[in-house]
Amino acid sequence: MKAVIVVDMLRGFLEPGRALYGGDACRAIIPATREFLERQRDQGALLVFLADTHDPDDLEFRMFPRHCVRGTDEVEVIPELADLRAAGIVVPKRRYSGFFDTPLDVILSDRDVTEVAMVGVMTDICVLHTAADLRNRDYETTVVTDCVASFDPAAHAFALAHMRDILGARLATSAELAGTAARE
Ligand code: ZN
Repeated sequence: MKAVIVVDMLRGFLEPGRALYGGDACRAIIPATREFLERQRDQGALLVFLADTHDPDDLEFRMFPRHCVRGTDEVEVIPELADLRAAGIVVPKRRYSGFFDTPLDVILSDRDVTEVAMVGVMTDICVLHTAADLRNRDYETTVVTDCVASFDPAAHAFALAHMRDILGARLATSAELAGTAARE
């Protein structure tokens, strides 16, 4: 089975004014991500929404401003993807990797998932660390390059190259994956 892991497409990262708002580059991926997820859902892929969710006194707040605290609206998937979230599974996480202290491994293995596509934010933080843990578990992993973003463009570029060259992930655009690239 195929799965799409949707990383942290949450109000806490994608709404202007939030402490860890990722900026225009992050908002810019919303339409392509929505289109990609609709197509994947229609083709029967499992949609897994990772949701950064912290306790109020989480030690991560020594490094980052307080964000995505359990029980606040910051941990909600953005309204633009709400119907797709309802068709999928939400997995709260408290560290960068979606595998750390979560049931993600069981969710994927119970459904015989072998191929995973990744979308979401931030390319160089939670996408990267989750990609590393996917590759450590030998999942075929594709990062959808027009559906990932970061507040830091240089780190975004580094992370894409690292995932391709060191982790062995495939990079592809959503158009390439839809077989429509030649028409664009
Ligand atoms: Zn966090």
